[in-house]
Amino acid sequence: MILDYVSDCKHDTEPGCAVKAALESGELSLERYNLYKSLSNENTKNYARKKYQNGQRLQRR
Ligand SMILES: [Zn+2]
Repeated sequence: MILDYVSDCKHDTEPGCAVKAALESGELSLERYNLYKSLSNENTKNYARKKYQNGQRLQRR
């Protein structure tokens, strides 16, 4: 698993994307790159949902 420190990264045009860099250096195959992209999209959706739920909880305190 390649760790990407770019927040909200779509592994597309983001500068400093570790996944994109690995693809360009040949470390990562195009097949796996597409997998990373789909995983990233799912994570972003889950993160947004969690963030919203946490916000709702915080308001009650
Ligand atoms: Zn990335």
